[in-house]
Amino acid sequence: MAILLTKTDYILWRECKKNIWLKIHKPEVYDTQELSEFEKQIIETGNEVELVARKLFPKGFLVEGRSLEDQKTTQDLLVAKKEIIFQPIFVKDDFLAAVDILELNTDGSYNIYEVKSTTDVDKKNHYHDLAFQVNLLEKFDLEIKKASVIHLNSEYIRHGEIEINKLFHTEDVTEHVKEILWTVGQEMVFSLKYVVDEDEPRGQCDCVYKGRSNHCSTFKYSNPKVPAYGVHDISRIGASKARLQELIDVGIFELKDVPEETFNKLSAPQQNQIIAYVKDAILQDKLNIKRELDAIVFPLYFLDYETFPCAIPRFDGFSPYQQIPFQYSLYILDSFNGELKHFEFLFSKKEDPSLEFVKSLQKDIGENGTIVVWNKKFECKINEELGERLPDYKLFIEQANARVYDLMDIFGKQFYVHKDFKGKISIKNVLPVLVPSLSYKDLEIKEGGTASQRWNEIWLGNVSESEKENIIKNLKTYCGLDTYAMYAIWKHLYDTIN
Ligand code: SF4
Repeated sequence: MAILLTKTDYILWRECKKNIWLKIHKPEVYDTQELSEFEKQIIETGNEVELVARKLFPKGFLVEGRSLEDQKTTQDLLVAKKEIIFQPIFVKDDFLAAVDILELNTDGSYNIYEVKSTTDVDKKNHYHDLAFQVNLLEKFDLEIKKASVIHLNSEYIRHGEIEINKLFHTEDVTEHVKEILWTVGQEMVFSLKYVVDEDEPRGQCDCVYKGRSNHCSTFKYSNPKVPAYGVHDISRIGASKARLQELIDVGIFELKDVPEETFNKLSAPQQNQIIAYVKDAILQDKLNIKRELDAIVFPLYFLDYETFPCAIPRFDGFSPYQQIPFQYSLYILDSFNGELKHFEFLFSKKEDPSLEFVKSLQKDIGENGTIVVWNKKFECKINEELGERLPDYKLFIEQANARVYDLMDIFGKQFYVHKDFKGKISIKNVLPVLVPSLSYKDLEIKEGGTASQRWNEIWLGNVSESEKENIIKNLKTYCGLDTYAMYAIWKHLYDTIN
């Protein structure tokens, strides 16, 4: 099997050899799931950031693809001594790399730049990524003088036109790359040898000692004995690796088999998760639930925000990845037996929604009563940032934040534990268990990442008028359910203790 090993493959090989082998030889096992909206967003963001970063080098020449023709174009551009080349493509000895930016120095040597959409250098991957490129370029007799990572500057705040030189930070990592150059050269040879081998790697999957969130898409294939729900799903078990290892090493995968000795070393939430599951019981601390709910003051405002984290700041006052709040849904209940009223805000113009958002919020949430949210860190942070950008509303925002109550606390503090939460306390896990009549399952938009992406499609103008209307309708349904869910959970808890 003819294989061209890319730098991405090499980085994957460093992370997990078995995984890259499956990617190449058994794509039907590797690609079982569609990319999530979050993963798609990372790819789109990477592309967007690279396009903007190229403006740091105004006279660049772009090589568009990876074909033989493009490889020839690259060589022609090198012969023509073009100062800046974007995405020149190099293929030799079964290795392939496209360099984000190649810069010719006056002495005939070159500098290479790797553009990353991160706000820092990832020492574990970026140095190796560049070392792979340097090794390959040296096979073409190019002298590489400098290797740098260009990444977003988290300190940058937009005021007026984007200042490209301030938006990005260029970090010279030549010395770090030089240090690992020989090792990476050796690893390139090993990794190629490893992936061309037709024999499937055998042996244990290292991730068997990691929590579920660290497992890749091929975990089930490589570890058929591991149940779909078991010791790998114990909440935060990844942070207590020794506990997990002690179970796996003696072949314990099921929660019901966790021995007393290990159980006693687990945290209270972890123990509760196991007890609820094994005994098929609901653990309720009614006294504390009552205390929490009694502290909530009518009128109640069940509030939820939707936001978009934009890598390249779109408006004044924003930094890279700062969330743009574009939507909220609000259910208001004046008294226990009062009528539940719904209010909402959704901004779909091509401007900064912040001012309209905060004005609308101020009109809707009054001055008294508890604002009920799920995971208050998020909404309160968005509020604080709104207050920073709009000083006239800072006081209102501070007062609003002082009224916030986090309904998730009841579950985080373990006052209510259900086996079907499976150790998770997000509203998406709690709602279907406590209020099975309500579900996200049939919605077009089922989670925040998709809401964010759909709104961005409207903002970018990538959709027709009718698609836009449809997205707006779906966004309203989704965010509306998030807030109604809070009301329904609050009501369920209230009924539980009375
Ligand atoms: S589950 Fe972990 S060890 Fe197994 S193939 Fe995936 S990344 Fe590698």
